[in-house]
Amino acid sequence: MELLKDKVAVVTGGTRGIGFSIVKTYLDNGAKVILCGSRKESADKAVAELKAINSNYEVEGIYPNLVNAKEVEETINSIAKKYGKIDILVNNAGVSAMDSIYNYDPANFDKVMNINVNAVFYAIRAVAPIMKENGGGVILNTSSMVSLYGQPAGVAYPTSKFALNGMTKSLARELAKDHIRVNAVAPGVTDTDMVSNLPEQVREGIKQTIPLGRIGTPQDVANAFLYLASDQASYVTGEILSVDGCART
Ligand code: NAD
Repeated sequence: MELLKDKVAVVTGGTRGIGFSIVKTYLDNGAKVILCGSRKESADKAVAELKAINSNYEVEGIYPNLVNAKEVEETINSIAKKYGKIDILVNNAGVSAMDSIYNYDPANFDKVMNINVNAVFYAIRAVAPIMKENGGGVILNTSSMVSLYGQPAGVAYPTSKFALNGMTKSLARELAKDHIRVNAVAPGVTDTDMVSNLPEQVREGIKQTIPLGRIGTPQDVANAFLYLASDQASYVTGEILSVDGCART
């Protein structure tokens, strides 16, 4: 069954890792997808990879500067004009840094907050009126399991994800009357490039902290994004859905 038949979805950070799996899963479920990368080369490469899997996928790659509010607004408006609507926005692009508070450069703190929080606000601010006009929509944010209890270094990252949860829950309330659902997915350790390159001994150590006994896959996370984007979740909003093998406790 195609859960997203004829839906138009915009996915930031869609070139690799979790975002790439979300894009592919949405395409497999009948959506048209506009994926955003940080550079032309990575956006083009992701589109080529997807077209190689299925030449019928309706996918386009773009590379707006997500931390420029005006550019984001213009990009969202031009997508809506071209496709006639935007049904789903996935704010997945994110950065992490493990700096210690004892030598945390404020510029590095700002960098994490800008992409993980401000950019999400810019995109939602631009897309909400379009969704309202169209009778509704779905906004999804990629949070993290560290948004629930913090982490022992790199304070900007959990701070940004706590903020993202706050934005999710608040906008769910504000936008419910316009039939726009707003949810987040909080992945645990997920097998993207960074994690798959770790030495096997370190990966084993991580597995032992996860009650389900394995590291999550990007597909595990994408499945949650599929559910939340679809009408199967029509009565779900303001939720932070953990997909972490119960590692959060
Ligand atoms: P990744 O590094 O593989 O991908 C990150 C994506 O974000 C890329 O597509 C990249 O192009 C994009 N991006 C980063 N900075 C950008 C910028 N300045 N402008 C535009 N795009 C930018 O990471 P991932 O592991 O797939 O992470 C995706 C999301 O999942 C992030 O929000 C991350 O915080 C979250 N997350 C990841 C894990 C994990 O273990 N991998 C766990 C919890 C949450």
